[in-house]
Amino acid sequence: MQFFRDSMLELIFQTSTNLPPDVRQAMSLALKREAPHTQAGQALAIIGENIDMACDDEGPICQDTGFPTFIIKTPVGANQMVMRKLIEEAIAEATRRGKLRPNSVDSITGKNSGNNLGPGTPAYHFEQWEGDEIEVRLILKGGGCENKNIQYSVPCVLDRLGRADRDLDGVRKCILHAVWQAQGQGCAPGALGVCIGSDRAHGYELAKEQLFRPLDDVNANPTLAKLEADIMEEANRIGVGTMGFGGNVSLIGCKIAAANRLPASFFVSVAYDCWAFRRLGVMIDPASGAITRWLYRDPERPVERLVKEGEGFKLTGREIRLTPPLTEEQVRALKVGDVVLINGPLFTGRDALHHYMLHHDLATDLRGQILYHCGPVMIKEGTPPNTRWRTNAAGPTTSIREEPYEADVIKKYGLRGVMGKGGMGKKTLAALTEFGAVYLHAIGGAAQYYARCLPKVTGVDLLDELGVPEAMWHFEARDFVAIVTMDAHGNSLHEDVSQSTGDKLEEVGVGKG
Ligand code: SF4
Repeated sequence: MQFFRDSMLELIFQTSTNLPPDVRQAMSLALKREAPHTQAGQALAIIGENIDMACDDEGPICQDTGFPTFIIKTPVGANQMVMRKLIEEAIAEATRRGKLRPNSVDSITGKNSGNNLGPGTPAYHFEQWEGDEIEVRLILKGGGCENKNIQYSVPCVLDRLGRADRDLDGVRKCILHAVWQAQGQGCAPGALGVCIGSDRAHGYELAKEQLFRPLDDVNANPTLAKLEADIMEEANRIGVGTMGFGGNVSLIGCKIAAANRLPASFFVSVAYDCWAFRRLGVMIDPASGAITRWLYRDPERPVERLVKEGEGFKLTGREIRLTPPLTEEQVRALKVGDVVLINGPLFTGRDALHHYMLHHDLATDLRGQILYHCGPVMIKEGTPPNTRWRTNAAGPTTSIREEPYEADVIKKYGLRGVMGKGGMGKKTLAALTEFGAVYLHAIGGAAQYYARCLPKVTGVDLLDELGVPEAMWHFEARDFVAIVTMDAHGNSLHEDVSQSTGDKLEEVGVGKG
């Protein structure tokens, strides 16, 4: 097993930076299905560029490099304890090299372990099989989409869809509801792994396992194959679209398993994965630990680029240039749908920082500034005393988590903008109106694209206390593109899309049973 650690390191590198061909193909089709001038089309153009950049530069596709889950099949006699140890070494090394963000947080103390290791991290599922080789599959699933997983206990009554019974139509309604409730918060277009039946815990596990199926395979069970095809067609008619901006593509895959259940229980468990659907696998020689073959890839088929030379996201000249600090007048002039280009200071702040901001006073003056919901991947370069930070990945995180804090944070610190992805709720919308601020939507997962818009790090607060992703990073932004989706006049694109897609959900989902 001399090469096993390096093989695992390569598997982690490739999974984090290079989307598998089936996902690329699905995203390429999504790009073709949206008109370039629409918000969904513009978002997909940025996503496409981001996917290509990540592969070219071997940088993480998304700054949230996800929770690592390994599924490992071993021949009789393979030493699982050695494998665990070498995988953990590979994870720590991948973190050190900036291919994984330090993402493992102690749930009691809130302390980030700094190397992606800790109780329960990573997750392993070992299975013995008749094969001669070791098969290792890895999925890196981020928090934004993980938070949109959902489990239904049928019969139940669903918003917009009414009763879901214990039959296939009830299951269909639950899955459509799962797509609708996610809106853009899980970085649509997404892929679903579904389990019908089992118990609560195993149902989720089996649902996640479905995500290991290639997007273009066909279910061996004809009933489930039909359900998968129906969901793909129906869910894409609901119109959630890329990032929840509205559009033709909400789902790039739906894979369903059925498992036996107790007579008293009937769960439908849904694992939602985002467009940054990072999973790969390798076959390993058990003697040397070397990779003998990649799974999901065809050696004959070169990596398909998403965006051709000269294409991709294009500025129209109608973008509004923002240079913080912003005045109230500037901000009140913005309206939903405006595309902005930010040049100047930008400060990050996410979950732990929002909590901190309300319980302490920050030394940094944020009046007129934009707070960016982002936990970047940062790399320290050079040797002391000449070290500097480099931004390795810096897309937005899901803003709705800050909903309990944001209105108070805007008021206390005099912010003129908050920026993230997926939109925010009524309390924040009211604060934007009252205090004169806007919500800006950056494109979820576009971590490489946005890292290039943050070429200069001018400072960092609370790094030791909060760790890399949660610290407040001070950047100098250059042509950072975002869309106004909630303005200072009470308008919210997210509320509008939620309403219109709810109407569509009703139309598509009801009356088939
Ligand atoms: S693409 Fe979006 S949901 Fe997926 S890991 Fe990145 S931020 Fe999270």
